[in-house]
Amino acid sequence: MIEVAGLYKNFGSASILKDINLTIRQGEVCAIIGPSGSGKTTLLRCLNHLETPDRGRIRIGDFVLETGTASGNGALVRQLRQKTGMVFQQFNLFPHKTALENVMEGLLVVKGIPKQQAATKGMHWLTKVGLAEKAAAYPGQLSGGQKQRVAIARAMAMEPDVILLDEPTSALDPELVSEVLQVLRKLAEEGITMVIVTHEMNFAREVATKIVFMDGGSILCEGAPQRVFAADNSRIQSFTAQFG
Ligand code: ATP
Repeated sequence: MIEVAGLYKNFGSASILKDINLTIRQGEVCAIIGPSGSGKTTLLRCLNHLETPDRGRIRIGDFVLETGTASGNGALVRQLRQKTGMVFQQFNLFPHKTALENVMEGLLVVKGIPKQQAATKGMHWLTKVGLAEKAAAYPGQLSGGQKQRVAIARAMAMEPDVILLDEPTSALDPELVSEVLQVLRKLAEEGITMVIVTHEMNFAREVATKIVFMDGGSILCEGAPQRVFAADNSRIQSFTAQFG
């Protein structure tokens, strides 16, 4: 279970996250949606301390990180990051490493797993995302959709408690979006806990078990997709009319 309590984040004098409280159960697919600038990405990045919250508590299973404790305590932040795999909009693959080497990197460097074992695990995850035959390809030789599938395999290979995805299809040509969503759909069916910032409303509607609608740095509405999308709220209705 993931629990966020009393989370605040400012950038300078701008208050970007205001008292965020959120619970995500194991196996849940939580889609964070809402207007541009509402704080979705900042919230996601706070979950693994790519942004340090100003205040608040993050719990992942038995692990708890209170802001304040975290500042200056790199060991706790490293533990948090091992529990949270991150998938970025722009893939963030190492360009000089092959697909397999990208997936193996964290296993070798962070987990200290022997090379042969890391390669076996890496191939397992490349196969799961349908890219076994591209193991030796460099990112420059892959399509955007393939790069993102490698990034998902890389995150999953670390066996995190949850994967965090920041608009994973936003940088893709429209015809490549579905192959990435298909991989995420499969992971969801396998019970992988996911938190995804997305503008793909159909995906959110069909795959998410929980929707968090953010507006102006706060959670305006949360719950099952049918409840949130049907909410009698003009902000949500105008947003879904635009994207949905
Ligand atoms: P979008 O849908 O456009 O990606 P978002 O809901 O994900 O938006 P955030 O990226 O979290 O929103 O940004 C929320 C606000 O915080 C925006 O006004 C943004 O300009 C600001 N912001 C984000 N990161 C920083 C930063 N590092 N420094 C200063 N301001 C920032």
